[in-house]
Amino acid sequence: MALHDLILVLNCGSSSLKGAVLDAHGDTLLLGCLAEKLGTAEALMTFKDENGKRSVALAAPGDHHTAVAALLAELQRLDLQARIAAVGHRVVHGGERFSASTLIDDAVLADIEACIPLAPLHNPAHVAGIRAARDAFPQLPQVAVFDTAFHQTLPEHAYRYAVPDALYCQHGVRRYGFHGTSYRYVAAESARLLGRDMAGLGLVIAHLGNGASVCAVRNGQSQDTSMGLTPLEGLVMGTRSGDIDPAIYPFLQANTGMDLAAINRMLNHESGLLGLSGLSNDCRTLEAAAAEGHAGAQLALAVFAYRLAKYIAAMAVAAGRLDALVFTGGIGENSELIRAQALQHLQVLGFVLDEAANSAARFGAAGIITAEGSTPLALVVPTNEEAMIARDTARLSQIQAA
Ligand code: ADP
Repeated sequence: MALHDLILVLNCGSSSLKGAVLDAHGDTLLLGCLAEKLGTAEALMTFKDENGKRSVALAAPGDHHTAVAALLAELQRLDLQARIAAVGHRVVHGGERFSASTLIDDAVLADIEACIPLAPLHNPAHVAGIRAARDAFPQLPQVAVFDTAFHQTLPEHAYRYAVPDALYCQHGVRRYGFHGTSYRYVAAESARLLGRDMAGLGLVIAHLGNGASVCAVRNGQSQDTSMGLTPLEGLVMGTRSGDIDPAIYPFLQANTGMDLAAINRMLNHESGLLGLSGLSNDCRTLEAAAAEGHAGAQLALAVFAYRLAKYIAAMAVAAGRLDALVFTGGIGENSELIRAQALQHLQVLGFVLDEAANSAARFGAAGIITAEGSTPLALVVPTNEEAMIARDTARLSQIQAA
């Protein structure tokens, strides 16, 4: 049995904890786990590996500490504990403080806490998860990998909002962007697939999951992205509106009596595909309903695809050159319909879709979906944020991959 050859990746949400045990390359998953309903009496942890799935109830208080303790017990039971070399944590917001992944010490933890005003739901959960992991694995290096870090290369004209300067200087009001770990992974994979060096390559990557954004990448660096101060800005998403006239706030307050919190909740949780369709936030469900003639589902998908195309064209400006458009995330990797609709709008940029290749690219298959000779190219590249976190963690902890 090899010692210290595995990485534990943790992704803590406010009421959940996702964990994965991977090799240092991030290629092989040995154990996955998901704790849900943390902070309630129904807190539950489910483990998944080659032997199948099993669940355990989490004892009171059923918080992040309890979940990490249950994970540690399972690692001991499976004889994996001694093989864990380091722990990598997904952290949503690193503000302007973090432009790369970093080893966690007390000062780094304090800086992650200082970013709580920028991510009031996510960062407190990450801090709780980091504390729990440091208690459970006191001898192991811990690494933070930030969703925002990749976008710290944005030029100022891309990240500044046209609002009074003091809001940026005193409160950090600017575009930060998210999904950075996914973009970093997919950009490298795309270059590899295209047989191109990252230097000189202009990519627009569309990460389309429940949350969705687009990113312009040039020379391997983020140039602009559609999410902003928060993940609400930009594309139509599962339940988020994306871009909207900010004057909707006073309009709705005056005309419906909704307060700020109600409007914010509506824009984040009741809008997007769900709000437009009146049916579901799930693209698969909407595609099935649209095929049966459901008008709301058809409209929701059409608005999603049009906004996406508009943003891709805008990101081509940011990239400065467009060699390839890359689709990733659950929708990007699987929905031939959304890809086809977006590329239909994007014919103006020269894309020519290969329908058979587009239909074939799903369920984890990567490949080019434009016809021979099409410039730019469009391709599908499955993302793998856990692998990226594992690789960063191994590198920063100086773990030699087998
Ligand atoms: P998250 O952002 O939560 O990680 P995912 O990246 O898993 O989300 O993406 C979830 C989305 O992907 C859902 O809208 C789901 O319907 C969509 N999706 C998954 N498989 C398919 C498919 N075969 N066809 C269309 N959409 C799909």
